[in-house]
Amino acid sequence: MKANCWYGKEDMRVEQVNDPKIINRGDIIVRVTLTAICGSDLHLYGGFVPTMQKGDIVGHEFMGEVVEVGPDVKKLKVGDRVVAPFPISCGACFFCEQGMFSLCENSNPNAWMAEQMWGHSPCGIFGYSHLLGGFAGGQAEYVRVPFGDVGPIKIENGISDEKVLFLSDILPTGYMAAEQCNIKPGDTVAVWGCGPVGLFAIASAFLLGAERVIGIDRVPYRLRMARENTKAETINYEEVSVLETLREMTGGRGPDHCIDAVGMESHSPGLQYAYDRVKQALMLETGRPIALREAIMACRNGGTVSVPGVFGGFVDKIPMGSLMNRSLTVKTGQTHVQRYMRPLLDRIQNGDIDPSFIITHRLTLDDAPDAFRTFRDKQDECVKVVLRPS
Ligand code: NAD
Ligand code: ZN
Ligand code: ZN
Repeated sequence: MKANCWYGKEDMRVEQVNDPKIINRGDIIVRVTLTAICGSDLHLYGGFVPTMQKGDIVGHEFMGEVVEVGPDVKKLKVGDRVVAPFPISCGACFFCEQGMFSLCENSNPNAWMAEQMWGHSPCGIFGYSHLLGGFAGGQAEYVRVPFGDVGPIKIENGISDEKVLFLSDILPTGYMAAEQCNIKPGDTVAVWGCGPVGLFAIASAFLLGAERVIGIDRVPYRLRMARENTKAETINYEEVSVLETLREMTGGRGPDHCIDAVGMESHSPGLQYAYDRVKQALMLETGRPIALREAIMACRNGGTVSVPGVFGGFVDKIPMGSLMNRSLTVKTGQTHVQRYMRPLLDRIQNGDIDPSFIITHRLTLDDAPDAFRTFRDKQDECVKVVLRPS
């Protein structure tokens, strides 16, 4: 089959590889009908995620048709149409039973690697390094999905692939980022990053009752999408001081909740960007937490800082004094996608949200290497790329 493989920093190649096979009794094989490139894939592309190996198949947002089921699979059959969640989760361990699927204790065969770096391991993830299991990803014609009865959600009616694909990751991610702020009516939420995750965090904050949502970015067409498609107010961080502007917009108090939907590769027009780039290049820190620092400083006393943005290791100059002295709550996590798929599918079906508004590029799997660059460099007004394997 054809698959998009990682070969190193900024080196993706579409290659012929072996078809996946059923390995465990609960596995299914999915023929991918639509897949996408995630902002998290850009961290692989930039070479910021350790334990990638040449030839690894990437991709963790995918859906398709079940073409084979293991002998223990009961809920799905060949021919079913499914969306798979990016966390691989057993459904039966301590964490899965509490709905914390991205912390599954049974799905990362390389947990020892993650334990060395993070103390404990989260779940395995498709196409996202050996540290997170070394699973082949879904930017491919076929993919093996472990725990077929637990993760994949069956799509019963004729609703289009484009409307449901993002249940695999970014729609639940934006939603969980907003949900964990415990938004009350009248609240103001600020969201750093108007990429796919930021846009869904903004839309979700409104769905959950926020009165005002303020999107922050520097890319004009993404800020425009935030204003036009989600009714957010926006700030261009290259034009004004974000901290001052937020203070002014909120009567001096600061937003009630702040969401960092940027993560480890954040950018800044100021001096701290040079500082973080140098430290990151020398491996003295593994991420540039510029948006995170700003989100902490901006948040009103007693508010929530929610961090869906991905970080890999260690970062510098986190304003701990600001967090501690002002009673802030930090919430974070790889998304517990399985918890949100059914309720968000219902919201898509009843018209509360149509997630396909973010798609700007419809390409084929062969275009994946170029599409990574277009998405990373924000060329051609790119917000989200979807790829058809054939
Ligand atoms: P993206 O790269 O398209 O979007 C990031 C946006 O942040 C860009 O538009 C960029 O211009 C903007 N930005 C950069 N520096 C900024 C700053 N200082 N202030 C404000 N905006 C800034 O990526 P995406 O797909 O939207 O993903 C965003 C983050 O969410 C990534 O870190 C990704 O890894 C993470 N993510 C996490 C999960 C999870 O489960 N927690 C799931 C999916 C994605
Ligand atoms: Zn992702
Ligand atoms: Zn589990």
